[in-house]
Amino acid sequence: MPELTTDVRYVKGIGEQRAKALEKLGIRTLKDLISYFPRAYDDRRNRREIADLADGESACVEAMVSFPPTLSRIRRGLELVKLQATDDTGALDVVFFNQAYMRDSLQAGKTYTFFGKVQASGRKRSMANPIVEREGGRMQTGRIVPVYPLTAGVTQFTMMNAVRQGLDACQKLLPDPLPDEVRREHELCGIDYAYQRIHFPEGEEDLAIARRRMVFEELFLLAAGQYRLRSRRSGQSCTPWRETDLTEFTAALPFSLTAAQERAIRDIQGDLASGRPMNRLVQGDVGSGKTMVAAAALLCAVRNGKQAALMAPTEILAEQHHKGLSPLLEKLGVRCALLTGATGARARREVLAGLESREIQVVIGTHALISGDVVYRALGLVVTDEQHRFGVAQRAALAGKGDRPHLLVMSATPIPRTLALMIYGDLDVSVINELPPGRQEIDTFAVPGSYHQRIYRFIDKEVAAGRQVYMICSMVEENDQIPDERKAAAAYAKMLQEQVFPHLTVACVHGRMKSKEKERVMASFAAGQIHILVSTTVVEVGVDVPNATVMVVEDADRFGLSQLHQLRGRVGRGRYKSYCILISDNRSEEARARLKVMTRTRDGFKIAEEDLRLRGPGDFFGHRQHGLPALKVADLSCDMELLYEAKSAAAKVLERDPELSGEPAMAARVEEMFRASEDAMN
Ligand code: ADP
Ligand code: MG
Repeated sequence: MPELTTDVRYVKGIGEQRAKALEKLGIRTLKDLISYFPRAYDDRRNRREIADLADGESACVEAMVSFPPTLSRIRRGLELVKLQATDDTGALDVVFFNQAYMRDSLQAGKTYTFFGKVQASGRKRSMANPIVEREGGRMQTGRIVPVYPLTAGVTQFTMMNAVRQGLDACQKLLPDPLPDEVRREHELCGIDYAYQRIHFPEGEEDLAIARRRMVFEELFLLAAGQYRLRSRRSGQSCTPWRETDLTEFTAALPFSLTAAQERAIRDIQGDLASGRPMNRLVQGDVGSGKTMVAAAALLCAVRNGKQAALMAPTEILAEQHHKGLSPLLEKLGVRCALLTGATGARARREVLAGLESREIQVVIGTHALISGDVVYRALGLVVTDEQHRFGVAQRAALAGKGDRPHLLVMSATPIPRTLALMIYGDLDVSVINELPPGRQEIDTFAVPGSYHQRIYRFIDKEVAAGRQVYMICSMVEENDQIPDERKAAAAYAKMLQEQVFPHLTVACVHGRMKSKEKERVMASFAAGQIHILVSTTVVEVGVDVPNATVMVVEDADRFGLSQLHQLRGRVGRGRYKSYCILISDNRSEEARARLKVMTRTRDGFKIAEEDLRLRGPGDFFGHRQHGLPALKVADLSCDMELLYEAKSAAAKVLERDPELSGEPAMAARVEEMFRASEDAMN
């Protein structure tokens, strides 16, 4: 008897080779197979008689092959099978390109169903490469057919056929992770029906019913997992910290804090005094001044007799923070140190000794802060900057260094509320929703490629005035090859240096450079030794070069709006007027609408909402940077209502049964979901 864990080779038609191909899709067992959902559907229900076929429509016709198909070779590499099929109303010409076997598999006098796109002119009707099925067959024609994401060696038909068998073998065995009462209360269908119909819907209605259940299930499990994380943490306790008087701190700043910064600091002080470990996310747009909020928190730790660590994702950012914060903190009597991969052996020994003796109170650095030989005497607070680069696991490793230190996460990626609810469901959130006063406007333009000469002249002018320029090029795909960003950025830089700006210094950074090398280039750009920096998207998030005033993005339509927003945030950081120029020759409605959003608003949250709406959450962060378990069916841009329903349902179940001892199927799935997401982060 097949079980959910049975190998896919159990399925007829899946041998060694195909099993290998399926493995690439993450499919090993029957359970994996039937959990591999379609990415779309092809509606092949439109049945017609031949005379009624309209030009351009996709339709099924049932017709008899009226004479034996012929095979001809048009030229090398092009074989053509031709036949005519008739019904009571007319004749249909059918051709197949490079499917010679069709000549023998279709027999004159027999009736088949043909599905394809119709070409009609006058009384002539024809189809090229239609899908063909024996008369009465209902697997591929006359119905809604699933469309799966595929890999080499697996066709849609193979996939569909395999899933069909998988469902027949074990759809009844699927344990339902939704508790009965949840299903009843939210009117959700059973799991076997849902699996059946999500693959093979009969119509829109049952597909909607199945999909609603699957989305609910996914969001429900996610919410349940986060609920458990949160309640596990809030069960922990620690000694409450005393409130820190920050008068001295604010007096030492060259500006006064914004109301939003003050609010975030108040939230933090509240957490620290609560007697439970803090888990707070500070979310603020680029340039909103998160660093000062972090600084205030670091000071609170020190005033409570603890050590604090600030961790940045790159050496250059760590150095930047150290350079900015240590004079301020030292002025307040705090001993600061920098610890990165670039710290020399001797300096490193000194830092380690200082941390162990508690002489060093605040340490700023990179991943080096969590390496094994770093011992903290009294680590009370960990701040991570630009959080999405750090995995949950890395945060946990740093947290493990002390006795449950307070955790503060700073994120510069403004994300829509829906997504925030999912990603940071286990964190408390403070939002810095205002920029410090007096910020320079960044004039943003969306222009076609024909503007290049004018842009080059403009760059010349800015550089002559002492400013610096970023030029971003996306990865260009050449001849269907895998895009090579190194080539694209390097070639572009070379061209600019040799042909356009021979009198200036042009340099290039790209993602495949060693990080040392990359940081060397970034550092000399920061030092003003490079006029024009060409880069793929790696211009570090958070890099602060106030002298840079122009951001040019080539092929801007290929970037997500949030990415463009981040890139634009690299300029307008000093006292000079800044510009962002988005170049694109894509004239499509959508591309233009997206770039227009950029020219109209500087509000990162608004842009993020638009981005989510236009692209969906899958692409939102580019790669899986958010550490969220991959959602297979839910679409957070439109399943908002269901998200709230699922969240409250999950909370209700967990309040009643915190350990889920009465819901083993649910417990198992929650574990599984979070295990997979932690793996993806490492
Ligand atoms: P981000 O939120 O992107 O990390 P930063 O903390 O790097 O922003 O701050 C950006 C710039 O704004 C820095 O030069 C910082 O000194 C300055 N800044 C921060 N807070 C204020 C404020 N309240 N008023 C004026 N300038 C500020
Ligand atoms: Mg920052």
